[in-house]
Amino acid sequence: MSDPWRAEQLDAADRIAGLRERFSLPADVIYLDGNSLGPLPAHVAERVDRTIREEWGRHLIAAWTSDGWWSAPTRVGDRIGRLIGAAPGQTVVGDSTSVQLFNALVAAARLRPGRGIVVIDSIHFPTDRYMAASVARLLDLRVIAVPAAALDATLHRYAEDIAVVAFGAVDYRTGELHDIATITRAVHHVGAVAVWDLCHAVGAVPLDVDTADVDLAVGCTYKYLCGGPGAPAFIYVAQRHQAAFDHPLIGWNGHMDPFAMETEYRPSDGIARARIGTPHILSLSALDAALDVFDDVDIGTVREKSLGLADYFLDELDEIVSSGALDLVTPREHSRRGNQLTFRYDDADAIEMALRRKGIICDVRPPNLVRFAFNGLFLSYADIHRAADSVRGISHSTRE
Ligand SMILES: *Cc1c(COP(=O)(O)O)cnc(C)c1O
Repeated sequence: MSDPWRAEQLDAADRIAGLRERFSLPADVIYLDGNSLGPLPAHVAERVDRTIREEWGRHLIAAWTSDGWWSAPTRVGDRIGRLIGAAPGQTVVGDSTSVQLFNALVAAARLRPGRGIVVIDSIHFPTDRYMAASVARLLDLRVIAVPAAALDATLHRYAEDIAVVAFGAVDYRTGELHDIATITRAVHHVGAVAVWDLCHAVGAVPLDVDTADVDLAVGCTYKYLCGGPGAPAFIYVAQRHQAAFDHPLIGWNGHMDPFAMETEYRPSDGIARARIGTPHILSLSALDAALDVFDDVDIGTVREKSLGLADYFLDELDEIVSSGALDLVTPREHSRRGNQLTFRYDDADAIEMALRRKGIICDVRPPNLVRFAFNGLFLSYADIHRAADSVRGISHSTRE
């Protein structure tokens, strides 16, 4: 049953409630869609303004060195590395996730010449599937799409024929969280390369790519990292693979000596060989500033609160969830879900629109999945109380 006092108590005990102040969110909005586009950290606008007026406007070409523009992809990469459990020197920021997926898949396949199969998650995000299909055509590979539950059997069956296994850490539709370490171990057991898509995990759940022995990973920065629309993606290349990492898009920024303007490509040492062309400085500036939010808080603490918010939402909706009126698709166990809850609901669009009219923003993925993302950085239990109240009211009225 709905208990407003409980939200008040939970908010009073919330040690990171103050972080909300760091975001510029409309007062009348409860934003449960931060897994699609993270909200604006308040100080970002000033930082981008400075990059434009002062660095670009006054320092001109000198800003490439004086303002650290040239080194931004690896410097900001290391800041993201800290959030995914990567030691410095393994993460680069640039281009979109789609492009980085392409790069990672080709480079991964090139690490395993002679093997002919790429295994992907059968419910992978569309762009992940499209890229795998194109890479397979380019390199004459075969794609096998399987659900996580069938991965072990697939690894067993095709074993040494498998070059690459590409999965998402958190499923964008169901919110299911996969066990990166266990799956990576199984992939390595057949000698294949593990490529992880961290889009819905980075900034949301604690990650430990180094310890899990991940080979390559990519992810976006405009979801839980709040880097802004079109913020550049990142790629992680484990140290042990860097010397053999053969980038499909060899651009001058990845050259050993870019300003020598040599006719032949010589890859840079280390992670810089994962760079391509001129970095997106304005977007990188916004992302760099947004990451300041994470300097003051441990991801584990944010994760704990995000789970608390999601659990509170489930408690508040217990009656309609257990009756099946709102069908929970996301696994309930904390170890098996990200920071999102997904419900199957016949009239998904109607509930999303009705909530939007009340200032509560969630989203729908076809055909009938309603997604709510819980981000402890800027949401309160009082927000969740109000959202749950509205969902309850709407689901009753749409069923009448
Ligand atoms: C959001 C998301 C993408 C987005 O790719 P872009 O190139 O940034 O548009 C890709 N894969 C997954 C799993 C995602 O969740």
